[in-house]
Amino acid sequence: MVQHTVSDAILLSYAAGTLPRAFELVVATHVSLSDDARARLGGYEALGGAIINDMDCVDMADGALDDTLARIAEMAPAPRPATRKTGLFPTPLQQAIGGDETAVKWRPVGMGVRQSVICADDGGSARLLAIPGGQAMPKHTHRGTELTLVLQGAFTDDDARFARGDLEIADDHDDHAPIAETGQDCICLIATEAPVRFQGMIPRMVQPFIGI
Ligand code: ZN
Repeated sequence: MVQHTVSDAILLSYAAGTLPRAFELVVATHVSLSDDARARLGGYEALGGAIINDMDCVDMADGALDDTLARIAEMAPAPRPATRKTGLFPTPLQQAIGGDETAVKWRPVGMGVRQSVICADDGGSARLLAIPGGQAMPKHTHRGTELTLVLQGAFTDDDARFARGDLEIADDHDDHAPIAETGQDCICLIATEAPVRFQGMIPRMVQPFIGI
């Protein structure tokens, strides 16, 4: 059965704060749009709190608390889900971009498709992709996990349809060529662990220039 939401395993990693930043952003944005994912996340966060409460106490060095708080203050804040659903971009995405959809710096990548890379590090990258209605993406497979969250429009993948708030999870075992539904541009927020593997020669040739 095709899933349209985040898996429990990924949600649990998110609650534990162990996801790479790109994946954290996509999950926070998805949770902002999905009542079901938000309810499941609430359960995992409560579970995490209960586990910490039940842990044995250990003696800490003097100043350990101050050191820890100072380190937390230096860290960039992790994207957190929000419940405000107005506007195209939920709050975690707006915070990552520094504005709403008017703040996105789009770059054409061929076939009428535009992309904007939001963040990239050793754990993976997150990007926005705007695909014209009716356009098929080149067939590809993956190196690791790929999360695709629909923000505007819709796409189909085999017989499954994904619309605003739906999340598709793909990995090394999946090859696909999603097709944007006719009508407005399909805008997706995508996290990948590593560049995808295109199966056609032309997409493979342009890949170094577009970095997907
Ligand atoms: Zn894919």
